[in-house]
Amino acid sequence: MTKYTMSVKEFLEESRKGNINFLDFAAALLEETQKLNKKFQLLREICDIRDRLYLNPPLNGLPISVKDCICVKGVQSYAGSKILEGYIPTFDATCVDRLKDNGVTILGKTNQDEFGFGTFSTNSGFEVPKNPLDPLRSCGGSSGGAAGLVAALDYPHVALAQSTGGSISAPAAFCGVVGITPTYGLVSRYGLIDYANSLDKIGVIGKSVHDVALILSIISGKDEKDQTSIGEKKDYSKDLSSTKDLKGVKIAVPKEYFQNLEEEVEKEVWNAIKKMESNGATYEKVSLKNTKYGVAAYYIIATAEASTNLAKYCGMRYGMHGKLEGNFNEYFSTVRTSGLTEEAKRRIILGTFTRMAGYRDAYYLKAMKIRTLIIEEHKNIFKKFDVIASPSMPIQPPKFKEIKKLTPVENYQMDFLTIPANLAGMPHLSVPVAKKTPIGLHLTADHLSEDKLFKIGSVFEKVR
Ligand code: GLN
Repeated sequence: MTKYTMSVKEFLEESRKGNINFLDFAAALLEETQKLNKKFQLLREICDIRDRLYLNPPLNGLPISVKDCICVKGVQSYAGSKILEGYIPTFDATCVDRLKDNGVTILGKTNQDEFGFGTFSTNSGFEVPKNPLDPLRSCGGSSGGAAGLVAALDYPHVALAQSTGGSISAPAAFCGVVGITPTYGLVSRYGLIDYANSLDKIGVIGKSVHDVALILSIISGKDEKDQTSIGEKKDYSKDLSSTKDLKGVKIAVPKEYFQNLEEEVEKEVWNAIKKMESNGATYEKVSLKNTKYGVAAYYIIATAEASTNLAKYCGMRYGMHGKLEGNFNEYFSTVRTSGLTEEAKRRIILGTFTRMAGYRDAYYLKAMKIRTLIIEEHKNIFKKFDVIASPSMPIQPPKFKEIKKLTPVENYQMDFLTIPANLAGMPHLSVPVAKKTPIGLHLTADHLSEDKLFKIGSVFEKVR
């Protein structure tokens, strides 16, 4: 406990009243962050906070960390990859720009899987973050450092994160914190180092539903720098406390999401659904038949896009450079061989293969058709229901030595619960079933229905 151990709400109140001495606060925050980082390896870069205090209202200097793949002007961005060594963005991502305008303290860049390629943050070119709930276990991925820092830091803090196929929900669940992955397009991707453009979303991880709703309100909405961005400005955190129960809320529980689960996860998530029922919600079991194709379709689409995105890291433009030797292909191969991890190479090969002439129809186009079916299936569910409920992850955080034993396919399979909503571009919220418990209740809603998720999530937080 320090004098700055307080919630985001308390911090906003205190700083608004002028009760925070920011130089003292920044020094204490820096010291605490460095201490935690030694223990858990959550951040790749820690900023000199005193140079990164933006004290304007309404956030009045609230500490924010930024996932390494989101650009902050003047701060080295690796996106978890050695190949970006030396890349210092000359501009801010739109979400960072909006947060600065609204007054935040930028703490640093959090550790992640290389370019987001992973479920456990173990596929990184650098340090692997350790779970503050148990350092022998994974934080989840790919936004592992972000979720870990939220869990570890007792100071008011919210983390900017990113998901392509589950990278916000998985680490939020494993670290016992809250994560919102918004509708595709709701947050501008300008300044995000891309993994797979048709799937990437920037979202938020925090200690409570209120905290993530507050930050989403600031970073969301149309941005002329990203043509895929959508949505109006909305204050998602405003009416949260006025929703007292779940009367009238209809929950769909897909039977395919309750297969191959660790026993404890299944039990706890059913308890959570029953708790929502005793608070006025009703639930019905449904079927999402295409769930079984989700993982295969996702890994074809995501790697097809990633393999083209990564072509720009050729040792000539961004980041790492090598000794200029041989012809272009030889030079390109030398830089990429030393700059990328094994998992990135696997994905480049897989993604290049599935969109090659001759294989395109059999793999890539088929995967795109599955994606359309998954979207339609979800749209149908939301004609009748408000949300889909499931676990966020099929297991509790595994130990690092257990992760080492997984084959790539076994590893990919761990994402079967988060992939459908990500393929469908639908917003989803992971809330711990109990405070600081590494099991997440996963709630998915229709496009642009984030407010529904926050209302249901915040009632659940009170009654769990
Ligand atoms: N685990 C998934 C993958 O490796 C999702 C990662 C993400 O959302 N960035 O692709």
